[in-house]
Amino acid sequence: MRRALFPDHPGPVYAGITTWRMVVPATAAASFAPHETWGRGALWGSQPLLDGRIYAYAAAAVPAGGHSPDGEKAELLRRFGDWHSPVPEIVAAAGPDEVLRHDVRHLVAPLPAFHRGRTALLGDAAHAMAPTMGQGGNQAIEDGIVLAHHLPDAGDVGTGLAAYSAERLPRTTGIVRKSARITRLMSVRSVPGAALRDTLMTLAGFGPGLALRAFDGIADWLPPQRTYAAGAPDPQIRDHQAQR
Ligand SMILES: Cc1cc2nc3c(=O)[nH]c(=O)nc-3n(C[C@H](O)[C@H](O)[C@H](O)COP(=O)(O)OP(=O)(O)OC[C@H]3O[C@@H](n4cnc5c(N)ncnc54)[C@H](O)[C@@H]3O)c2cc1C
Repeated sequence: MRRALFPDHPGPVYAGITTWRMVVPATAAASFAPHETWGRGALWGSQPLLDGRIYAYAAAAVPAGGHSPDGEKAELLRRFGDWHSPVPEIVAAAGPDEVLRHDVRHLVAPLPAFHRGRTALLGDAAHAMAPTMGQGGNQAIEDGIVLAHHLPDAGDVGTGLAAYSAERLPRTTGIVRKSARITRLMSVRSVPGAALRDTLMTLAGFGPGLALRAFDGIADWLPPQRTYAAGAPDPQIRDHQAQR
C-alpha cells in the first residue's frame, strides 16, 4: 500500500541489526531484575512477565539475511552462552524451534505524508523504526488515537487525514532517527570503540535516570482532547448521564 501511494519513496532499508525473541518458562532462571545488557555489537534483554514466564530479546550487528543452519537457539548459545546470568539459562530453556529471528528494516527516509487523498497509513507502514527504543507499537497506538481524533463526524475526510499527517509525521520521524542513533551506538563492535562508548556512557552518568530521560518528550505524550463550545456538555458525560 505504501508503495502504491508513494511510488518514488525508497522504502525500508536494513537497520544493521538482526533480532531474536523468545518466551520461556519461569523455571528458566531464579528471580532477576529486568535488564538490558550491551556488549560489542550485541545486546540482550530479559523481562519477567506477569504470569511468571520470561520474555527475552537479543540483537546483533550482522549482515542481513543470515540464518543458523543448526537453529537459532544454537546461534544464541554461541553468541550469548558466556554472558552473565540469567542469559545462558534463558537460552537453554528455549525450545529448539521457539526462537524467532528477524532482520530489522526501518524507514530512515520519512514519507512525504502519511496520507494521500482518502487513504492513510499508520504504524510500521508509515514509520517502521528500529526496536531500540521499544516505540514501534507505541507509536502505532498513538497514530490510531490521533487519526480518530481528526476524522470528522461528517464532511471532508481529506482535511482530517491531512491534519493527522501533519501532527504525526514530525513526531515519528524524530523517534525513527533517535532509534537509529541508538542502534548505531549499540552496533559498535571493535574493542576500542566499545570501550570508548562504555566509558563515555559511564562518564555521562548513564544509568536508569539517564536512560529514562531519553524518553522525555516521548513517554510523556498526552492524547489530543476534543474541545466543545462553552456550555455544551462533553458528549461522553452527556451519554453517561442519559444512561443514569
Ligand atoms: C524485535 C522487535 C522488538 C520490538 N519491541 C517493541 C517494543 O518493545 N515496544 C513497541 O512498542 N514496539 C516494539 N516493536 C515494534 C512493533 O512490533 C511494531 O512497531 C508493531 O508491530 C507495528 O504494528 P503494525 O500494526 O503497524 O504492523 P504489523 O504488526 O507488522 O502488522 C501488520 C499486519 O498486516 C499483515 N499484512 C501485511 N500485508 C497484508 C496484506 N496484503 N493483506 C492482509 N494483511 C497483511 C501482516 O501479516 C501483519 O499481521 C518491536 C519490533 C521488533 C521487530
